[in-house]
Amino acid sequence: MQRSVLIVGAGAMGAGIAQVCAQAGWDVTLSDVEQQALDRARGSMRSSLERLARKGVVRETPGIVLRRVRPLLWEENAPESQPDLTLAIEAVPEDLGLKRRILAALETACGACTIIATNTSGIPITTLSEELTEPGRMLGMHFFNPPALMKVVEVIQGEQTTSETFQAAAELVREMDREPVLVRRDLPGFVLNRVAMTASNEAIRLVQEGVVTAEDLDRGVRGAFGWRMGPLETVDLVGLDVVLAAREEIFRRTADPRFEPPALLRDLVERGHLGRKTGRGFFRHEDGKGEG
Ligand code: NAD
Repeated sequence: MQRSVLIVGAGAMGAGIAQVCAQAGWDVTLSDVEQQALDRARGSMRSSLERLARKGVVRETPGIVLRRVRPLLWEENAPESQPDLTLAIEAVPEDLGLKRRILAALETACGACTIIATNTSGIPITTLSEELTEPGRMLGMHFFNPPALMKVVEVIQGEQTTSETFQAAAELVREMDREPVLVRRDLPGFVLNRVAMTASNEAIRLVQEGVVTAEDLDRGVRGAFGWRMGPLETVDLVGLDVVLAAREEIFRRTADPRFEPPALLRDLVERGHLGRKTGRGFFRHEDGKGEG
């Protein structure tokens, strides 16, 4: 059956998700309030597809894949009616009010059979679905960055999501050539970020207490557990400010000490050592050496 998807928000995630769906042969509408964002998205999809074609990962030419992606300027008050859509995904910035407005507009514009998904990284699915008329057909589809390379997608069941929606969404993710991780409870941080956060928080605390250097810890984790990147290298890549904000948010919501930001993380952020983007975080990126 020919699948069709509407993605609202053509930023880093929206463009990547559009590419994944187009590679799977779906009809894609990629929508944004900014024409510039739509243009940028096309450029980033093209260069990613060229790289994947060079590596032999994608057999079709970038032109053929991109022909399946229709750009659309998003009209919030009068969204184009899409009665036959399989799936609608919102990938706008992490703002509760904005996401709720987009989801409500999607519910109005789409047919009764369309599954409605959010790519939120942290807002509870249940909170996002509260103002919908049919919250049963809404759920979380959490792609990882960059979607074109990351094979896993968390499929998250909100309190109101029906099991039919949940199972159907997992099947759609498989059709996109991605592996669904079925998250059956709407927990703060879902599943994979909770695991990543607790691991890296413990790593930061062990370095903070002088038990181990950052270099030794990451080398050990890579060697012992087969992780491609150590937890501290990952934190440096994501950005210490982003990592701190995510922990503050989840700690505020749960008061769970596992998520409390360690003092060393705060200290590095206060000193402007934000990781790769500033050349220094847990490691110095000019020479790749740990600072312990
Ligand atoms: P982004 O800022 O790169 O893109 C957001 C896009 O939404 C922009 O192009 C913007 O023009 C558009 N937009 C803003 N308001 C709009 C509106 N009213 N209608 C239509 N489009 C609108 O953001 P992103 O990094 O792609 O993140 C999008 C979502 O995905 C967020 O909820 C984020 O938390 C989540 N997420 C991000 C990552 C990541 O690593 N970047 C990973 C997983 C999930």
